[in-house]
Amino acid sequence: MSSPEKLSVDVLIIGAGPTGLFAAYYAGFRGLSMAVVDSLPEAGGQVTAMYPEKMIYDVAGFPAVRGRDLVKGLVEQAAQWDPTYLLGRKAVGLEEAEGGGLEVSLDGGDVVRAGAVLVTAGIGEFTPRPLPAGDGWLGRGMVHFVPALDVHAGKHVVVVGGGDSAFDWVLALHPIAASVTLVHRRSRFRAAESIVREVRGLGVRIITDAEVTRLRGETEDGPLAEVELEIKNEGREVLPAQTVVAALGFTADLGPIENWGLEIERRSIAVDTTMATAREWVYAAGDVAAYPGKVKLIATGFGEAATAINNIGVALNPGAKLFPGHSSG
Ligand SMILES: Cc1cc2nc3c(=O)[nH]c(=O)nc-3n(C[C@H](O)[C@H](O)[C@H](O)COP(=O)(O)OP(=O)(O)OC[C@H]3O[C@@H](n4cnc5c(N)ncnc54)[C@H](O)[C@@H]3O)c2cc1C
Repeated sequence: MSSPEKLSVDVLIIGAGPTGLFAAYYAGFRGLSMAVVDSLPEAGGQVTAMYPEKMIYDVAGFPAVRGRDLVKGLVEQAAQWDPTYLLGRKAVGLEEAEGGGLEVSLDGGDVVRAGAVLVTAGIGEFTPRPLPAGDGWLGRGMVHFVPALDVHAGKHVVVVGGGDSAFDWVLALHPIAASVTLVHRRSRFRAAESIVREVRGLGVRIITDAEVTRLRGETEDGPLAEVELEIKNEGREVLPAQTVVAALGFTADLGPIENWGLEIERRSIAVDTTMATAREWVYAAGDVAAYPGKVKLIATGFGEAATAINNIGVALNPGAKLFPGHSSG
């Protein structure tokens, strides 16, 4: 979107995870215009950020679907209504608009005007835990996510971390990278034993009790070339590396949304059976929405997105029917 400062839509969806993406499809299906904002640079929420390569077995209609394929399908399904994506942008403020509706301000100062807002912010904005030695290297060889594997084909890769994500990235990159080395600062791993066994079985080098002390470029400002480690009882080692995946986990925080006058219960937003929050014209769905008996799953997020958008449809157009009709044609 070239000028989001002028954007005005029926529904602004905050969060491009599975729930927000399906809500975008559903809003179009109901004849509503929509925009989707997400602080991450890619759509897909937790699936893209944490487990794009994992198989998911409990999405209705898919006996098994890879995370990235599910997100691709959701983006394609929504694309028929041409949603406006505001990626890499964080929703920070929510105000009543003059003359009705709401105004959501984004970081950077733009304001989106919307008839209703659907908050699908999941567990909130993810902030990757930093790799201290990687300061200044983000985007110059160091990454926290691996949204596209092929970018790392033929490269020497060092994955730092000891949790499931670190081992997932090793498994995903091993077939295409020139080499993959896993570096962890402890001797024990948080990751499941089965995945640790699988990685060991591939013969991937695992260096434990090791701290990354420095990243170095080909030249002073050049791309990443090597990683220096300090290994307990062994001393210094330098590994060739064009990519460092810093998989040290994330912190998640609802941040500014907590100050929007919604009813927040344990980092979730209380909703009624229509997915309406305590604030008029603001709805919530997916992991972020709370009600008695809530189960946080992709499948429930899809259902809640449909409930929220159908109710928004009626709230915006009181003559409209709540039941949208069937999509099959
Ligand atoms: C390792 C792992 C495995 C899982 N496996 C399964 C499984 O097998 N089956 C299953 O059903 N579920 C699984 N889940 C849970 C599933 O991923 C979540 O239930 C699902 O992602 C929730 O979707 P969502 O769209 O509600 O929220 P999210 O996926 O969390 O997306 C929310 C989005 O909102 C954005 N956001 C937050 N605040 C703001 C803001 N202020 N401004 C802009 N953007 C904002 C975030 O950046 C994020 O992209 C798993 C989760 C993990 C971590």
